[in-house]
Amino acid sequence: MPVIADEVVVRESLPSMAEACPRCGTEFLLGSRFCHTCGDRRREAVSSEARADAAVMAGLWEQAVTRVHSVAAGLSWRQIGSKITLPAWLRYLTFHEIQSWVGLSTASLIAFIIGVGCVAGALLVGLLTAKTLVDWQAIQFYRAEWLLGATASFVAGILLKKSSDRDRG
Ligand SMILES: [Zn+2]
Repeated sequence: MPVIADEVVVRESLPSMAEACPRCGTEFLLGSRFCHTCGDRRREAVSSEARADAAVMAGLWEQAVTRVHSVAAGLSWRQIGSKITLPAWLRYLTFHEIQSWVGLSTASLIAFIIGVGCVAGALLVGLLTAKTLVDWQAIQFYRAEWLLGATASFVAGILLKKSSDRDRG
């Protein structure tokens, strides 16, 4: 510890000051705090240590920047995509899985999905709250239209399924 303390004392007692006045260029007298020509304050020179520290910091900063750049360059989207593995159950949600599971042709499956969407719409209409009789009637019409759409798409799906069966058989 005394070694460190001595170093600190030495550093504090000998601050490296500027050699010449920055205003008039006169060389400072030894130990002076002000310029003897113009009276300007003698400023602390940028010490070589501080300069070295700054250089070290700049080097570290550059290293960090280049590292970030290289990491960013290394992480292409393709690599991210290969690293993320989709859960196994998610493949059951793909169209062809549903198709093979339900056993419908593509056209009738699309019609079936549209019909399910229409049923969902009819159910969502039920969330609307009617304040007046006119609103209530309008909601009933909405619901009837959604259900009609669902019925139409289900019928279309059945017809498409029959036609595809006929094609197969
Ligand atoms: Zn001066």
